[in-house]
Amino acid sequence: KNFIIAIDGYSSCGKSTIAKALAKRLNFIYIDSGAMYRAITLYFLRNNIDWHDHDAVMNVLHQVHVELHLEDDYTQVLLNDEDVSEEIRLMPVSQNVSKVSAIKEVRKAMVKLQQKMGKTKNIVMDGRDIGTTVFPDAQLKVFMTAEPLIRAERRYKELKAKGEEISVREVLDNLKERDYEDTTREESPLRKADDAVILDNSHMTPEQQLEFVAKLYKN
Ligand code: C5P
Repeated sequence: KNFIIAIDGYSSCGKSTIAKALAKRLNFIYIDSGAMYRAITLYFLRNNIDWHDHDAVMNVLHQVHVELHLEDDYTQVLLNDEDVSEEIRLMPVSQNVSKVSAIKEVRKAMVKLQQKMGKTKNIVMDGRDIGTTVFPDAQLKVFMTAEPLIRAERRYKELKAKGEEISVREVLDNLKERDYEDTTREESPLRKADDAVILDNSHMTPEQQLEFVAKLYKN
C-alpha cells in the first residue's frame, strides 16, 4: 500500500518547507493543497464571482481546472493552463482564500481531487484537513504550529523579498484572521487529528524540523 504523510497546521508555519524537504528525502510526491484553494480563489477574484451564490459557485467548479507540477524547488500552479504560481501567493489571494475555502462545494471538489492524487503514489500533502478529512488513514500525521509573531516575521521576509509593500502588522493580522476562519468554519475545520504528532517549530531550524519528522517516519 502507498504511504501517506499528512502535514497540517496554522497559516505560515513552514508546512510547505518541511513537506517539500521530506518528500525530496524520501522520494515521495509533494502536494500543496493550499495552492489548489489559492488558485480557485484567484479565479473567483478575477471574475468577480459572488461566493454566496450557489449556482455561480457550481459553475466555477465546472470551469476551473487546477494543475500542480513539481519543479525542482517550487510547485508550478496552473489555472486553466495559465501559470499563476506567483500571483496566488500575493495578498489579494491571501486575504480571500479562507472565505472561498470555507464553501462546502469548493471543499468537496478539492478533497475529491486530492484523494485521487494520493490513490496510488507515496505522497506528502500539506494543508489544514489532510489528516482529519482527506486522508484520515494516513500512516503519519504531523500538526505544525509556531508563535504567531514568529510566523508573521518569517512570512514578512518572504513577501518583502518578492517586493511586496507590506508591514509585519498586516501580515500578522492576515494570518490571525486565516487561523480564525480556518478553525471556526463549518466544513472540516482546522484541528489536530487525534493521532497527529505536534511539531512546534518556533525555535527550530528547518534542518531540525526535518530530522524530527524523518525520525517519526523511520519509527
Ligand atoms: O497553505 P496555505 O496557507 O497556502 O493555504 C491557504 C488557505 O487555503 C488556508 O488559509 C485555508 O483557508 C485554505 N486551505 C484549506 N484546506 C487545505 C489547505 C488550505 O482550507 N487543505
